[in-house]
Parts: sequence; C-alpha cells; structure tokens
Amino acid sequence: MQLFGKKKKYYFSCSSVGMSCGFEVKGASSEAELMDILKIHAAKAHGMTTIPDSTVDAIKKNIEKK
Ligand SMILES: [Zn+2]
Repeated sequence: MQLFGKKKKYYFSCSSVGMSCGFEVKGASSEAELMDILKIHAAKAHGMTTIPDSTVDAIKKNIEKK
C-alpha cells in the first residue's frame, strides 16, 4: 500500500537569490522548516532581523523540491 508518495525534501542556496554567500539548506522537511532555518541564517550572516516580503517571494521561487 502506498501512502502519499515519496516525501520530498526542500533545498535552497543563498546564492540563488543573488547573495554572495555559500550557505545552503539541504533536505528540510517542509517549506516552513526551511524558512525557519533561513531566518536564523539571515539574522546571523546577513544582519537581516526580518526578511522583506520581496525577498521571501524570491526565496520561495528558488526553493527546490526533490
Ligand atoms: Zn546567506
């Protein structure tokens, strides 16, 4: 019996939204988890305490699911 198919993982690299940064999120289990990881990274590495909506949109477009 098959349940919901193979669960996809979520991948993102900072450089895909034009950051000169080698940070990558590999294998988050959901988009929400990936965004949480990125928020922490953005605060620490980029001094962004909040991520602007336009950047959030760009991030979401560049999330890879595989
Ligand atoms: Zn970064």
